[in-house]
Amino acid sequence: MNYKEALQNPIFKFISEASNNLNLDSYVIGGFVRDFILKRGDAKDIDVVAVGSGIELAREVAKLLPNKPKVQVFKTYGTAMLRYNDVEIEFVGARKESYNEDSRNPIVENGTLQDDQNRRDFTINALALSLSESNFGDLLDPFNGVADLERKIIKTPLNPDITYSDDPLRMMRAVRFATQLDFIIEEESLKAITRNNERINIITKERIIVELNKIIESKIPSKGFLLLEKTKLLKHFLPEITNLKGIDEVEGQTHKDNFYHTLEVVDNISKNTDNVWLRWAALLHDIGKAPTKRFSKKVGWTFHGHEFEGSKMVYHLFKRLKMPLNDKMKFVQKMVFMSSRPIVLAQDLVTDSAVRRLVFDAGDYVEDLMTLCEADITTKNPKRFEKYHNNFKIVRDKIIEVEEKDHVRNFQPPVSGEEIMKTFNLKPSKEIGIIKEAIKEAILEGEIPNEHDAAFNLMIKKGEALGLIKS
Ligand code: ATP
Repeated sequence: MNYKEALQNPIFKFISEASNNLNLDSYVIGGFVRDFILKRGDAKDIDVVAVGSGIELAREVAKLLPNKPKVQVFKTYGTAMLRYNDVEIEFVGARKESYNEDSRNPIVENGTLQDDQNRRDFTINALALSLSESNFGDLLDPFNGVADLERKIIKTPLNPDITYSDDPLRMMRAVRFATQLDFIIEEESLKAITRNNERINIITKERIIVELNKIIESKIPSKGFLLLEKTKLLKHFLPEITNLKGIDEVEGQTHKDNFYHTLEVVDNISKNTDNVWLRWAALLHDIGKAPTKRFSKKVGWTFHGHEFEGSKMVYHLFKRLKMPLNDKMKFVQKMVFMSSRPIVLAQDLVTDSAVRRLVFDAGDYVEDLMTLCEADITTKNPKRFEKYHNNFKIVRDKIIEVEEKDHVRNFQPPVSGEEIMKTFNLKPSKEIGIIKEAIKEAILEGEIPNEHDAAFNLMIKKGEALGLIKS
């Protein structure tokens, strides 16, 4: 492979010239080189290592660039960043890291390129291309990273037990890369991760979630979750999911394994949406099943109220994992809470009023909810599979039809409380609520159209019945 091709962006010539001016060697390293070899598309981030000061190199590059970009310096990390067109280039001095048992933060010293490659997480992330004028474009691959890219293997450059124990985030990154790239984690690494699983607890939740989200955003997220489960990492940050594992049997009656079912649902939904929060909803849609599981002789296994329980658990889970407690969380809660509604609907005859109620309750989330419920069909019975999908198609068509007719999405009452008070000369009182509810019910049931005049007539009738009109 001609690695010079990777360096066609004019920025590399500028870095080369700047290195020459400062009389130091520099290299492009890590993800950029890996992704070039994997042909993963245009990189938005470039990491440059200078054998010397990364900050000085960045300043020298900025001087040479025609548009004289600003250099952002991060003193604590000894790094600097500048932007060239829409690419971010990060500069760092080559460093040697050593860790000791009781600190998460390494002792950092200046080092050689080889020292810097040693501290990288995986062989495929330790690849470097020289930017020095004498050997511009040469590949430096001390750990056979290119061979591992070809064999699709995730492997640490040095002893895996030490690499993972030094910085346990690397365990998450191993699973993330295996999932994103569809690679295999090499056996010794897998064993080392399993041995070191408890060390994940020293990593902040925020950093774990960054990697977890990348797993969830992958094409087949189950691959990552199976690895997280196998290495015993998952239970540390998502016990709600590992609690779904297993099949109980009482008197010959079993229920499905909700862990594997959940993973199937996440994979299914990932074929139809890139919305990470909808994928989260798929992941969490059954978490209420573990605490609500009951067995009775009469009906066998039940999970009564698991949707409500699950939606409450979503809040605690987001809070614990330091995820946003905003409208995204509310969206996931609502999806979990409503996750059985369309299924119940699709098992039966699909009536207009049931669809109207669904649209009323789900509002703007109704399409996402349908996407979730379609993904939830994991039955291996082909007849049932087809029936449910057909019914969902009817539901989707009816949603459009009912919407055009009745506009119950984000429902606004056609007769306001003000108007009711004025008509019957009322002060705020419970009768107003009764009348409004009666109007809403009549619309959802299809007894009256969602229009002012029809609603007004019903209001008068209800008012009479409540004795509000004196004759
Ligand atoms: P992506 O852009 O997909 O996240 P990347 O490999 O560029 O992939 P970054 O997190 O930007 O990921 O890291 C850049 C490089 O820094 C990596 O390729 C790797 O060489 C090194 N690196 C990042 N995190 C670690 C770590 N925890 N331990 C060791 N090396 C790391």
